[in-house]
Amino acid sequence: MRAEAIVDLSAIKHNVESLKKSAGTKLLAVVKADAYGHGLIPVAKAALSAGADYLGVALLEEAFALREAGIEAPILAWLVQPGSDFKKAIELDIELAAASLKALGEISAASVGKKAKVHLEVDTGMTRGGFLNEWDQLSSEHLSNIELIGIFSHFARADEPGEKQNIDQLNRFTQAVDKLHSLGFTNIIRHLSNSAATLKDEASSFDMVRTGIAMYGLSPDVKTLGNSKSLGLRPAMQLRAALYLVKEVPANSPVGYGATESTPRDTKLGIVAMGYADGIPRIAHDAGIWSSSGKSPIIGRVSMDQFVVDLGPDSKLQSGDWVVIFGNGSHGEYTADDWGAASGSINYEIVTRIGPRVPRIYSAHVY
Ligand SMILES: *Cc1c(COP(=O)(O)O)cnc(C)c1O
Repeated sequence: MRAEAIVDLSAIKHNVESLKKSAGTKLLAVVKADAYGHGLIPVAKAALSAGADYLGVALLEEAFALREAGIEAPILAWLVQPGSDFKKAIELDIELAAASLKALGEISAASVGKKAKVHLEVDTGMTRGGFLNEWDQLSSEHLSNIELIGIFSHFARADEPGEKQNIDQLNRFTQAVDKLHSLGFTNIIRHLSNSAATLKDEASSFDMVRTGIAMYGLSPDVKTLGNSKSLGLRPAMQLRAALYLVKEVPANSPVGYGATESTPRDTKLGIVAMGYADGIPRIAHDAGIWSSSGKSPIIGRVSMDQFVVDLGPDSKLQSGDWVVIFGNGSHGEYTADDWGAASGSINYEIVTRIGPRVPRIYSAHVY
């Protein structure tokens, strides 16, 4: 074995239970992008078994995959392209987001014999998806041939509690809800909160929260909200690899493409057979591997399939020994937060980009 991502489904269950309890509402488990790299189907099943009420995905294809796996829970897909197979979505009871009158028209036209279940997305200030200028034109007529299930919006800065934009977005959301109420749609699911708002902004929970990153045990923003541990979350993924090679190298040996770094002394280097093709960021620096003898930092540039770490002259590690690239940090290993910081990115991107060459193994963490 070269490398594997061990996913602890009991951690995901713990996180879902604890988030749902603190929200006190329905919970939509966000499983887009292969469940943030953790594996769509096993994570979806674990989340449902822990009490998630809904599954949320970006793409219709992701929703189809859930149904093909026999999952019958409510599913919302919110990035459904014009011209999609809306009929198939309706037949499979997949709920659809609509963000424009055109989208509503397409969905209505496909609602022959069976009405589509729809959630209206409103743009409350993120200026990305959702109704904005067309919201005022929306009338009951546009909604007559569909079943309106919900209304939702998305925060841009929920990881900055106290930021005024959050209050503005909340107010605009309430106004949008009022409009639907005045059109007679009173029995609808209102959902606004992502993970950060679920953790820090009770007032925005409404009828359902949509939790992604926190469900995987990671903090939406370590700097502003604290780390996993302080939030009571358990990181679910551990990425580990078996060392491909260990060798002794003299001082001042240039390492890797561009010779960006040289060995500072006679030392042992470890080569890990993972690279940017596997989601290890090419620019990562100040990260590396952890073994029972502690942390060993990356030296030189990460290449497509390999990176090199400085194990130190006294290392007892040998080729074939397992090392941890990131984990929950409880043994002193690097975390997905560390790798994010080490590459000018965030934990979301680190876990989501672990490539398909890395098998996902479902079990409790093994060190
Ligand atoms: C991805 C996404 C979420 C989840 O965000 P987290 O920060 O991971 O909790 C929620 N809602 C929508 C619309 C999203 O696209």
